[in-house]
Amino acid sequence: MSVVEDKLTSKDAMQMEDRYGAHNYHPLPVVLDRAEGVYVWDVEGKKYYDFLSAYSAVNQGHCHPRIVGALKEQAERLTLTSRAFYNSRLGEFEKYATEYFGFDKLLPMNTGAEAVETAIKLCRKWAYEKRGIPENEAQIVVANGNFHGRTTTVISFSNDPDARKNFGPYTPGFIQIPYNDLDALKQVMEQYPNVAGFLIEPIQGEAGVNTPADDYMREVKKLCNQKEVLFMADEIQTGIARTGSLLAVCGNCSCQGHCERQEATYARPDMLILGKALSGGAYPVSAVLADDEIMMVIKPGQHGSTFGGNPLAAAVGMAALEVVRDEKLAQNARRLGEIFRAEMQKMVESNSLVSLVRGRGLLNAIVINDSEDSSTAWDICVRLKENGLLAKPTHGNIIRFAPPLVMTEEQLYDCISIIKRTIEEFEQ
Ligand SMILES: *Cc1c(COP(=O)(O)O)cnc(C)c1O
Repeated sequence: MSVVEDKLTSKDAMQMEDRYGAHNYHPLPVVLDRAEGVYVWDVEGKKYYDFLSAYSAVNQGHCHPRIVGALKEQAERLTLTSRAFYNSRLGEFEKYATEYFGFDKLLPMNTGAEAVETAIKLCRKWAYEKRGIPENEAQIVVANGNFHGRTTTVISFSNDPDARKNFGPYTPGFIQIPYNDLDALKQVMEQYPNVAGFLIEPIQGEAGVNTPADDYMREVKKLCNQKEVLFMADEIQTGIARTGSLLAVCGNCSCQGHCERQEATYARPDMLILGKALSGGAYPVSAVLADDEIMMVIKPGQHGSTFGGNPLAAAVGMAALEVVRDEKLAQNARRLGEIFRAEMQKMVESNSLVSLVRGRGLLNAIVINDSEDSSTAWDICVRLKENGLLAKPTHGNIIRFAPPLVMTEEQLYDCISIIKRTIEEFEQ
C-alpha cells in the first residue's frame, strides 16, 4: 500500500466521527490536524486563520511554546496525585492567580460548567451560613439568553429550548430576568428577599456577543452590594484579555492585572468564574476566585474533583497567565478590536447583507440581515472556510469573530479582506 493511500482524508475523518461519535455537535466541514499561533491546518494541508479560538480558550494562540513547554516538563515529572495529598505546584499556582486577579483564594476545577456549579454551591452555602437565609430557600438570579454550561443544574436556568428540552426535571432555585436591565434586577431583589446571588456574563458570548451598556456591570455591583447579594461574574469566555482588558468587569482599565484595580471602571465581583483561556487551550483548567468570607464556608469533604488542582493543570495555568501578561495580550486585543470594528462598520454601511457589528476587544460579532432561521450565516461561514478563515455562527444569524489575541495588525488586515471579499461574493 502506498503512503498516499494510507493517509486519512478529511472525508474519512468526518465519516468516522459521524458513524462512531454521538451527534451532539454540528461542526463546520473541516478536519483540523495541526496549529500554530493564529493558524490551523486541515489534514490536506490547507491553512486557515482561526476566528473562533476554541470559544476563546486559545487566547494565547495555538500551541504556545511556553505553555506547551510547561505542560511537557510537568507531564514528565508528576501529573496527578488527587487532593488526598498536597502537590508541589498547586500552592504556587494559587498564589500567583489570586495575586493576579486580586482575590484571597482560588478553588480549582477542570471545565467551565464545573466552575459554575462550584460558584452556585458556594453562593447557596454562604446564603445559609452567613446571610441567614432559611435552608433550601436561596434564590439565584440569572439573565435571559445566558450560557453557563451543560450540566443538569446549569441547563435548568437556560432559556434555550435545545439546551433544556427533555432534560428535566429541572433544579429549582433560579429566577430569570432580562439581560442588561437594571430595573428588572432591582425589582426581583425587592420582591424576593431570599435572593442570594446574581450570576451574569459581562458580555453574553453564546447568545451572539450581546454587549450591555457600559455602566451595566458597575450598577449591578452597586445593587448587589446594597442588598447583600453575591455578584458572580462568569468570565469563562470574556476573561483573560479577550475583551481588551484583563477581565470584562475591568471596564476600560488595560493594566493587564498590574494595577490595584481601584479604577472607577472596575466592577469587582464577589465571585470570579474562569475557565477556557486559563490554560491557553492546552488542558482543561477552571477556577472560582473569591475572598475568605465566601470561600471558607466550604470545608474538607464538601466539594472537590479528582483532577481539580492537579499539578499538570497548575503548571499549565500558571504559564498561560504569564503569557497573557508578558505579551500584553489585553492591549493587543483592545487595539486590534478597534480596527476590526471600524472596518466591519464600513462594511455594514456599504453592504445590505450585514446589518450590525458589535463587541469589545477581540470578542465581536456581525449580525446577518436575514431571518433567524435562515441558513445564511452558516453558508457564509462555509464560504469563509473556503477562503481560508474559520468562524462559526452563534444563535440565529450571527457570526462570532474571536481570533487568538497574539494576532498581528498585518494578519488582522489580511483577515478583514477575506471577510469583506466573502461577504461581497455572497451578496452577488
Ligand atoms: C464555555 C462557557 C462555559 C462552559 O465551559 P465548559 O468548559 O464548556 O464547561 C460557561 N460559561 C461561559 C460564559 C462559557 O463561555
